[in-house]
Formats: sequence, C-alpha cells, structure tokens
Amino acid sequence: MKLGPSLHRIGNHIIAAYLIDTPEGVTVIDAGLAGLWHDLLAELDTMGRTVADIKGVILTHGDSDHIGFAERLHRDHGVPVYVHSADASRAKGGPKPANAKQTMRFGATLGFFAYSLRKGGLRTTYLTDVVELHGGETLDLPGQPEIIALPGHSEGSIAIFAPVADAVFVGDGLTTRHVLTGTKGPQPAPFTDEPEQAVASLKALISTGATWVLPGHGDPWSGGIEAAIAAVEKAAAPAG
Ligand SMILES: [Zn+2]
Repeated sequence: MKLGPSLHRIGNHIIAAYLIDTPEGVTVIDAGLAGLWHDLLAELDTMGRTVADIKGVILTHGDSDHIGFAERLHRDHGVPVYVHSADASRAKGGPKPANAKQTMRFGATLGFFAYSLRKGGLRTTYLTDVVELHGGETLDLPGQPEIIALPGHSEGSIAIFAPVADAVFVGDGLTTRHVLTGTKGPQPAPFTDEPEQAVASLKALISTGATWVLPGHGDPWSGGIEAAIAAVEKAAAPAG
C-alpha cells in the first residue's frame, strides 16, 4: 500500500512492515513474519523495484513478529540487517531478559495467532548476522534514516525517523490498535517489558515533527507525532 511518494506499507493492521523508496534504493523497516515475503515482492513490483534495490533492513526491535523475512534477505540477497545492540541476541534467538514478555506477545489473540499461522509466523528464522545500532546514528541507507533509542517495549527498541517520508516508525513503542480489545487510536502497546519507560521514551520523538507515525501493529497514523504521544499518555494515565 502506498502511503506517500516514498512511503509504502506491507501487511495489515495485525502486522505491518514499511518501505522507504528513494532514487538511491529501498530501505525496509521491520520484516513482519516470514510469509510477508510474498507481500514484499508484490509491493516492490508495484513500485517498479526488485529485491536487488533493497539496501538495508532496520528492525525496530528483536521480537519474532518483526524479524520474519530479514534473514532471508540477508542470506540470499546480501542485505545488511540493523538492530539495536540490546536486542541483537533476541533477534538471533538467544536468551531474552528475564522480564521479556515475548511468549505472551506472540499469539496474544486468536486473530493474531491465525494470521501468524498463515504468514509462517511459527517458523521463525532467526538472524545469523546483524549490524548493531546504539541510537543517535544516521544510517547511510535510502532516506538517510535516523535512529532514536526507544527503550521500554524491549531494552533495544528503537524508532526510525525518515525525513524524506515525513515519517517516524515506532515499532511496538506504541500501537494504534489494541491487539486484545480492538480499541483504535494511539495507545501503549501491550506485552511491554517496561510500560512506564516505554511511554516516557516517546518524548524523544517530538523533535522529529513527523506527520506519519507508523507502528508495527495497527493502522498508520497521520495526525502527527505530538498528537500521537498525547493520546498514548492519556491512555496510559490511571483512570480518575
Ligand atoms: Zn510486535
């Protein structure tokens, strides 16, 4: 789905990944589940692109519902895969922090579970080799993506700001559709390791001024980053 001249989305409101398209090539943000591979190829085709145009994949974090086709792109097409150093072991299938809620996140609802089955989510292919990020860097990839540390959902969660697309990709730093209740609008993502920290981390995104706020789960939000954060903070505040 085309969201803008250099911005595309694959997947749906259950699980989404994104492409930044520039004359220099394509940067992929997140890799969903393995079965999204076919959606990726179809979207590239509508863009007049091929897999050979993909210069890099940036993972917002290391959870298995975000790493789907990343290893395939790396192994078969030599595409570098970027992930924060604190989530590198998660992405490689290594031990997770004791408080990681990975198992609960994965297959949280029947709908998510059924979609995961269809998209090959139960055949997780972990990464063998990643480029580790730390936050604060601008990558030499199409769209000059800027990495912003966003600890909370996981220790190594990041957001990616792409000025060319006027978009910030937030992974599971927030969601726009609650996977359990179906409630829409920006709100805290469930199954977060450190919920309070996750909400507090969002402040670092205000300076991007991005119009598009694009989560791993939920519909694209085009109401601006400030309004998105305000909605999350409101939803996170204790009732009364
Ligand atoms: Zn997720």
